[in-house]
Amino acid sequence: MKAAVVRAFGEPLVMEERPDPAPGPGQVRIRVEASGLCHTDIHAAHGDWPVKPDPPFVPGHEGVGTVEELGDGVIHLSLGQRVAVPWLGKACGRCEHCLSGWETLCEQQINTGYGCDGGHAEKMLAWADFAQPVPDGVSAVDAAPLTCAGVTTYKALKVAGVRPSQLVAVSGVGGLGHLAVQYAKIAGATVAAIDVTDDKLELAAELGADLVIDARKQDVAQVLREHGGAHAAIALAVNEAAFTAVNSGLRRGGKLVMVALPAHGTIQVPIFDAVLNGTSVIGSIVGTRQDLAEVFDLHAAGRTKVICETRPLSSVNESIEDVLRGQVRARIVFDLAKGR
Ligand code: NAD
Ligand code: ZN
Ligand code: ZN
Repeated sequence: MKAAVVRAFGEPLVMEERPDPAPGPGQVRIRVEASGLCHTDIHAAHGDWPVKPDPPFVPGHEGVGTVEELGDGVIHLSLGQRVAVPWLGKACGRCEHCLSGWETLCEQQINTGYGCDGGHAEKMLAWADFAQPVPDGVSAVDAAPLTCAGVTTYKALKVAGVRPSQLVAVSGVGGLGHLAVQYAKIAGATVAAIDVTDDKLELAAELGADLVIDARKQDVAQVLREHGGAHAAIALAVNEAAFTAVNSGLRRGGKLVMVALPAHGTIQVPIFDAVLNGTSVIGSIVGTRQDLAEVFDLHAAGRTKVICETRPLSSVNESIEDVLRGQVRARIVFDLAKGR
């Protein structure tokens, strides 16, 4: 099978021929049909974060495909079934976090495409309990971005407790942001979408954003304050200044939900303002299996649109460059079914 492999941080990925992996107990092998390119894959390939993966590894945590081999003990998935393999590859199932509905915080978790090989390959392994069945009627290409970009932003809005009539700022309308805009609309909010490219701002408006803010030309915090300030700001742009701007644009009691992970990222939160205004800063990491099931159900019901372009896996390096240049409509999905 072919796989796109990170051999060293900051170097181009290498297309390698590898033997098909054999599923261990509790695992399945999947024939990958589609695999979304998340900005996290780029951070992984660059070794951007304090906790680093261990090259060589195959990135990708939006892999979707059909089950082609069952490991020992797997009884709830069947051969040929379409499943998605998210970032949360496995959690312990026994700790405080797992038992209280916060499996995404499990300290024993293994992350797909980071702590084990991921979806940018023709075949991959998954732990069956964490491989999410994809409903009939949801294509592999659509399911791929939902598997991280979808579930992550859906969860971020839950974490913010967004309610109808609230103003939600979505900072960064890329892979994650284009879905965040839609979930915020589904929640009944008024949406202010912020980006630095014309295409992304146009896309946000097409997807229902009520207000678009061009961070190149406008003072984001001031525009948000002119509208009363945001009840919630979902920070998805890989840029520290963008976090600071939306934090300053919160209304009293507002919540900044941090999702993007710029390398070495820090922001300054003025204590006086946070205390007097009663604002919160909250980190939010992906979503649970239940969150992903809800994301798939919403899509199967026709409530969300996935905007993406499909490319062969062999385009992985130029695709990474295009994401970094902001020259992607929303998400790139490697189409393994076509590319094979
Ligand atoms: P992306 O590159 O597709 O999107 C980023 C968007 O931000 C682009 O549209 C870009 O034009 C825009 N942008 C850049 N600078 C900006 C600025 N100053 N102001 C406003 N917008 C700006 O990336 P993505 O795949 O959507 O991922 C975004 C981030 O989220 C990455 O850091 C990724 O690692 C992280 N992420 C976090 C989680 C989590 O669970 N917390 C999950 C997935 C991804
Ligand atoms: Zn991701
Ligand atoms: Zn656990």
